[in-house]
Amino acid sequence: MSLKSLLPLEAASPAYICPFDQACSYLEAAAKELRLDQGLVEILSHPRKVVTVSVPVKLDNGEVRIFAGHRVQHADVLGPYKGGIRYHPAVTLREVSALAMLMTWKCALLGIPYGGAKGGIAIDPKCYSVGELERISRRYISELIKDIGPSVDIPAPDMGTSAREMAWMMDTYSVNVGHAVPGIVTGKPLSIGGSRGREMATGRGVMIIIREALADQGRSLVGTRVVIQGFGNVGSAAAELLHQAGAKIIAVSTGAGGVFSQDGLDIPALKAYAAGNRKSVVGFPQAVSISNADLLTLPCDVLIPAALENQITGENVNQVQAQLIAEAANGPVTLEANQLLAARGVTVLPDILANAGGVVVSYLEWVQGLSYLFWDEERVNREMENLMVRAYRQVVQQSKLRQVPLRLAAYTLGVGRVAQALTDRGLYP
Ligand code: NAD
Repeated sequence: MSLKSLLPLEAASPAYICPFDQACSYLEAAAKELRLDQGLVEILSHPRKVVTVSVPVKLDNGEVRIFAGHRVQHADVLGPYKGGIRYHPAVTLREVSALAMLMTWKCALLGIPYGGAKGGIAIDPKCYSVGELERISRRYISELIKDIGPSVDIPAPDMGTSAREMAWMMDTYSVNVGHAVPGIVTGKPLSIGGSRGREMATGRGVMIIIREALADQGRSLVGTRVVIQGFGNVGSAAAELLHQAGAKIIAVSTGAGGVFSQDGLDIPALKAYAAGNRKSVVGFPQAVSISNADLLTLPCDVLIPAALENQITGENVNQVQAQLIAEAANGPVTLEANQLLAARGVTVLPDILANAGGVVVSYLEWVQGLSYLFWDEERVNREMENLMVRAYRQVVQQSKLRQVPLRLAAYTLGVGRVAQALTDRGLYP
């Protein structure tokens, strides 16, 4: 039975772009380029395990509500499953399955010994109290207790979750098994074995990959005009580091809308403003308002979608003016838009490369935890930068060698390494 028949079709609208179908299309393109055996492709296009659990939680008003919590484990050919947990109203099983698959290729591309997984609950965290979020997180992880473990599957933060949720999950797992298990999650607070540099890691990785791509075009970050959609963990860290490196961040948005300044936004002031404004940039006094739709089509050098999937689509791609797009979010450019951008010669730095800084530092956190030896931030950043730059160089080299765009080059490396490992391990029994 194929996965497509197992996963419920979540939206019937003709405009619906299924993230899992898109992920499978990229896999198939890489498999074709690599001339992979069809049996291998079949294995890799199916997650090994798909779990949906009921998460019953008592809300503050005494009402009991049942949430659906997902965890999808795509492939553990190279090592334990690894992937974030997302709290967002748009979470679906198909989305989580697509993101789990991306994690497999991302880890393989970066050369880190993990497989791919992802988890999520379809909630808007802004609608729940801290106490409710704690109960949701604890019950969700306790329902998954037999499916995860520090050498089995290691969750991390993603949209809507942070070090706080990781600490609750680590505590819940530890209480259930009877001893402290810091290695059950990454992206946790420093006080319980988190790594220095983890919070900024994904944004730092985005900055590094953009810097390298500009350098290859004989340009630098200084004075480069940048637009960023999303000002959460990833978008705000990328904005801060790019700003420090001399780039001009001319527009930034959050879910409710964005802000624009022709002369460049004062990013430290904007961060402080958002922190006191329920994480929204709307109303920032030193800028004018801009909608999320208009933000994507602003004239700029670099566009960084750092929020959701499917933001640059067949509908708006012709209005996008940036010549360089760095996918800080997972899957922000649809398959159709990707092809149209390639035809126009726009460089797209693909998600599995551009946003890999987070999983790299998660890996470094895991390594530090296993060795009971914790590094200073400079060392963490250095080790991360080495892995990111190495992967970038390999992708560029592969792109030249095979005469394919960077995304297909990245996929051929990631998919190819997993396929090779699968071939070497063989199919049991
Ligand atoms: P986050 O929850 O911290 O921030 C998300 C941001 O996007 C917020 O500013 C939110 O207001 C904004 N947003 C939400 N809906 C929007 C919309 N419709 N239009 C514009 N902005 C909108 O999430 P995050 O951790 O920064 O993750 C962002 C993206 O990066 C996701 O695709 C995630 O999978 C990816 N990613 C995150 C990490 C990580 O370490 N956190 C690692 C790799 C990839």
